[in-house]
Amino acid sequence: MDDGEPVEPNHHLQHRYPAESRYCAMCGGALKPRIVLPDRKRLKVCERCGFVEFVGPKAVAGCLVVAERRVLLLRRGNPPAIGKWTFPGGYIDLGETPAAAAMRETAEEVGLEVAIERVHGVYADPARPDAMVVVYLATAGPDARPSLSAEALEVAFFGADEIPWNELAFRTTRDALDDWASAMAAARSG
Ligand SMILES: [Zn+2]
Repeated sequence: MDDGEPVEPNHHLQHRYPAESRYCAMCGGALKPRIVLPDRKRLKVCERCGFVEFVGPKAVAGCLVVAERRVLLLRRGNPPAIGKWTFPGGYIDLGETPAAAAMRETAEEVGLEVAIERVHGVYADPARPDAMVVVYLATAGPDARPSLSAEALEVAFFGADEIPWNELAFRTTRDALDDWASAMAAARSG
């Protein structure tokens, strides 16, 4: 079987899903809004086979890699928010744990093999909660040096008072770093 040329996702098109999906993923029949039991939620249901299109937020995982009270951020090389700063992370694959996804994305984006310490927090943008982001605190070895990739145009460590608040990629980036900076300030005064 010929799979053809690799394809590049069109983000504008991807973001129209699931709002504009029209056909059943199982049989290709037409989807129609119906009340679904037991919760009586209005969902799209296939008129032909009865398949219910349950959709939820996309799951994302990432790492705050901390060394000497500074956190690693990268300048994004891909849309959306190209050129803005965030921490390494990405979509969790089906069949992958959140922690494994966070470690894999960190290795792919900045070339660091990290150890997860614990969950930092779970974040979503209240204005557009179409993704939920699981953020871990992680550490790299003392001699580990981050590297650049197509996804990371620039990589740097920032102290709590050095974070580029006006150049962050997402609301979830800001909220996760805000919590981290608060925790650092509390640890310093406590
Ligand atoms: Zn169907």
